[in-house]
Amino acid sequence: MTTEISRMPAVETLSERQLRGADCVFCGLAVSREEVRDLGQRKRRVFGLQVSWFPRAHPRCAEGGGS
Ligand SMILES: [Zn+2]
Repeated sequence: MTTEISRMPAVETLSERQLRGADCVFCGLAVSREEVRDLGQRKRRVFGLQVSWFPRAHPRCAEGGGS
C-alpha cells in the first residue's frame, strides 16, 4: 500500500539507511517486512541530477499517531 505523505522529513536530515528504506524515515528505527508502509517514490535533486529514493515508515508513524 502506498500513501502520500506531505509531512516528509527533509532529505538532508535522513541517514543513508533511511534513504534506502531500511529504516523508518520518521523515527529512525528499522522497519520489518511485516510492519512497513511504503511512502512511494520520491525525487530529490543532487548536484543538478534527479535521484529517486523510496522512503518507508512504520504504519503508525506514517499515520502521524504514536509518540
Ligand atoms: Zn517509525
